[in-house]
Amino acid sequence: DLEAWETFDEPYKIGFREYVRMQRDKDIAAYSVKAALARSKFFENTSPHWKALLAMHFSTVCWAEFHSASGFARQTRFGRAPGMRNMATFGTLDEIRHGQIQIYFAYEFLKHDAVFDWCHKSSKSENWIPISVRAALDDCIHTRDAVSAAIMLNMGLEQSFTNLQFVALSADAARCGDHTFATMLQSVQTDEARHAQIAEPLVKLMVEHGKKDYAQKLVDIAFWRMWKQFSVLSGVCMDYYTPMEARESSAKEFMEEWVLGQFARTLESIGLDLPWYWDDLKAETETFHHAQQVGLYVYRPLQWWRPIAAVSPDERDWLETKYPGWKETFGRCWDVVINNVRDGKFDETYMHAPPVVCNTCGLEVAGAAGDKWKPKHFSSTYGNRRYHFCSEPCSWIFNEDPERYKGHKSIIDRVFDGTIPEGDEAFFQYMGQSPEERGVDGYDYQ
Ligand code: MN
Ligand code: MN
Repeated sequence: DLEAWETFDEPYKIGFREYVRMQRDKDIAAYSVKAALARSKFFENTSPHWKALLAMHFSTVCWAEFHSASGFARQTRFGRAPGMRNMATFGTLDEIRHGQIQIYFAYEFLKHDAVFDWCHKSSKSENWIPISVRAALDDCIHTRDAVSAAIMLNMGLEQSFTNLQFVALSADAARCGDHTFATMLQSVQTDEARHAQIAEPLVKLMVEHGKKDYAQKLVDIAFWRMWKQFSVLSGVCMDYYTPMEARESSAKEFMEEWVLGQFARTLESIGLDLPWYWDDLKAETETFHHAQQVGLYVYRPLQWWRPIAAVSPDERDWLETKYPGWKETFGRCWDVVINNVRDGKFDETYMHAPPVVCNTCGLEVAGAAGDKWKPKHFSSTYGNRRYHFCSEPCSWIFNEDPERYKGHKSIIDRVFDGTIPEGDEAFFQYMGQSPEERGVDGYDYQ
């Protein structure tokens, strides 16, 4: 119904001349703070906490911005409504700027630390993290029609989660004295807030024309996939990698404010329901990123940066305040690691067995630790193989369209089907990690 698309109304109207002027002003602001950074030797003096955070952020976010750029370019070319194509054009330009500015800022640190090579390299590697991120982004923004992709990118990622990484983290960065990072994050998020508005009129149009179920499903799939990614990225950055003195709110508190509160109201206002798994989501905000933090640490050679444990006595107290019960659950896992370090059994601070990895999100299947652990197995047999999932929503996504997802192989699938040759060295080679590019404890066990 082409006439219906004609009624798409741009919620944010801007012309090219004005857009360019605003972008120039943003760049001037961000780059002038960076010029000051180069003089201040910030990086050399910052803690292993913040170094781990910068490395994790830049080496997963820079290239995700380029994914978004091509996602918006597809909307510019194939969007049905003229107003949508217009907004998406600016979205494309925004995302190119976000990719460029973040790589440029990250490369500032290259002379101090080769880890930042991964800001670009990770996108081209078959390391387990890029495999997981790419699968999520490809599903949402590159392998569906332009309208579906717009809804999934806007609602699943930008309206819901980028605030966590760009607004909340920016506040932590400012408290940490990293004004360059804070300013840059803000300059990115103000663009996100504009170009994320394409989906609202699209969803309203669909609801009006009897396509609510279709739009709802797109949002439910994208939102869950992005939750898993941001749970690890923002969850670990905020509750572990941010130095104690710079922390204000926990990842869970930010989730409650930005996502469970604000995003829920947005959904309601455009005629959609809360995703069916809302209770699962709330439950996961208590546990999932804590489990992933344990995983990142005990499998640290599989990351290219230098992971930190961040469970000193003060940090444990903070975690216990923000997540009552943390000490009795996750704290006990860390006790085992710490006791092994104290006894000099460093080899036992690593995991040697491959973890079970979810066939949808590509992350470790994990739940609350200790006595609260309620293992629940989600799996499906399709064709000649068995697929494993971390949660009911990840299982639901696969089973809604197994033909679509059956060919994706997790890193562990690739180990067992012979895609990756046998042996540790071959495994690291496959993931693009030379011996120098394998994570070691950022504090050298101090
Ligand atoms: Mn962006
Ligand atoms: Mn964006």
